[in-house]
Amino acid sequence: MRLILVGPPGAGKGTQAVHLAAHYKIPHISTGDIFRANLKNGTELGKKAQGFMDRGELVPDSVTNEMVKDRLENSDVANGFLLDGFPRNTNQAQVLDSILADKKMPLDAVLELSIDNSEIIKRLSGRRTCQNCAATFHNDFEKPKQAGVCDKCGGQLYHREDDKEEVISRRLEIYAEQTKPIITYYKKTGLLKNISAIGDVSDITIKAISALK
Ligand code: AMP
Repeated sequence: MRLILVGPPGAGKGTQAVHLAAHYKIPHISTGDIFRANLKNGTELGKKAQGFMDRGELVPDSVTNEMVKDRLENSDVANGFLLDGFPRNTNQAQVLDSILADKKMPLDAVLELSIDNSEIIKRLSGRRTCQNCAATFHNDFEKPKQAGVCDKCGGQLYHREDDKEEVISRRLEIYAEQTKPIITYYKKTGLLKNISAIGDVSDITIKAISALK
């Protein structure tokens, strides 16, 4: 299964990606997680990405495309992969097509998670992320057992700079302007499936798997 997850920030792409990657036994490739790991480790890539990420803007394609190209060189993608957060604009979608065409690894599906903006703002402003393993929790809907501590690895939870209210609206604008057009792009290829991102995590996973059959 070679799969892309598309949807606005806060649609639950990361959460669903973990479940779907386990179900299909494929690596979960999240460009946001790769950027955050680089930021945490103070790498050159992290330094290049930080300002854009803090403002809720897209990291330039030259940086992002190269990073994804490198990641897709890894042998673990031989049996498939799930891309989460990439592509995020038409240029990235075209570059991905050409990388995959070179590797003779065509996409199988693009799964769109739909949700409206008011729900997104509720989700993101309360979201807390583990500094260590990137697991996510929510102050109201999915509280960790101990406040501020990750249930999965004991890491410290933090409020992502770009999950703060003033940045969320910028991310939503960018999604509407730059990312939405890739939905049309993939609709034309016949690969696009759409499901609602509202409901229990496990119900959404079941819907996703059924849409992908
Ligand atoms: P995410 O965790 O997917 O919400 O990504 C967090 C941030 O990382 C985004 O707001 C961007 O600044 C950056 N980012 C992640 N994926 C991409 C991408 N495909 N293109 C450009 N920037 C990205």
